[in-house]
Amino acid sequence: MEKPLYPSPYMRITQGYMMGTHQDSYAIDDAGSDSGIDFIVAPFTGVIKKIYVGDANEVWLESSDAVIYPDGTVDYMTMMFAHDNDISNLFVGKVINRGERFYEEGTKGNASGNHVHMECGRGKFTGSGWHKNRAGYWSINNGKNPTECLWIDDSIKVLNSYGYTFKKIEEDVVFADTSVIEEPVKEEHTDADINEKDNNDTINKDTNAKVKPKLIFTCKSDDIYAIELKAGQKLYLE
Ligand SMILES: [Zn+2]
Repeated sequence: MEKPLYPSPYMRITQGYMMGTHQDSYAIDDAGSDSGIDFIVAPFTGVIKKIYVGDANEVWLESSDAVIYPDGTVDYMTMMFAHDNDISNLFVGKVINRGERFYEEGTKGNASGNHVHMECGRGKFTGSGWHKNRAGYWSINNGKNPTECLWIDDSIKVLNSYGYTFKKIEEDVVFADTSVIEEPVKEEHTDADINEKDNNDTINKDTNAKVKPKLIFTCKSDDIYAIELKAGQKLYLE
């Protein structure tokens, strides 16, 4: 099951939600790496449900399956993107894969500089996809705070998060790695161990080859590994 990834590889949020032209909505604007036109990637595998060319070339993408929200709940998600100058390659019913470049920043629809306007909605596409909100702006149905919908990972370069905190997708290196090698416990004694034991019988009782590890993970390369540990678990490094 997919975790929706923040769709701009260079996060540079230039307008937050519930302010300015985003009053009464959870819309955010992202201007990417610079003032030029950056591409936007699909946050999840989905299908285009609606295209509206009369304003800012708005495109609605609905997830093909339920996705995992940062709070751990599972539901469909629909996102709306706006301001791409040219969407002639897109059509209703087109399937877009997660991570695929499918949209671009632009200025279509009264935008002052190249950026993408995006909104997240919980659930499937409903009704006409949007509604006129109390501030007079068209806003996605079932709008939800983007930090409660989108994840980030190491591929996202955060230039300006606007003070928002997005949950990070951690790689479950140890416990989810199918290449984990289970090895029989080897009782290794060296002269140093024995000497040490002779000298002081009370030290190193925990580490002197009495431990039966449940899992041995062999690091294939130098790297920084994240490990989720449960209370009471012990970690031994060799
Ligand atoms: Zn906007």
